Amino acid sequence: MKVKVNRDSCIGCGACAAICDDVFEIDDEGLSTLKKEVVEEDQKQEVLDAQDSCPTGAIEVEE
Ligand code: SF4
Repeated sequence: MKVKVNRDSCIGCGACAAICDDVFEIDDEGLSTLKKEVVEEDQKQEVLDAQDSCPTGAIEVEE
């Protein structure tokens, strides 16, 4: 699964990084950035949970 963060929509709430810190982190600009763009099967659910928790819909996933 591939994941993307639309940084124009991100408000830096930190929810994604709190849920899945192997994939998301908050950078020096206070916005979410990806540690990796391709997510293994065992982290898929965490990424989907992060997507559900994002208040601005900034996280996109693609199979
Ligand atoms: S949950 Fe959404 S708005 Fe919050 S830091 Fe992550 S991408 Fe940005």
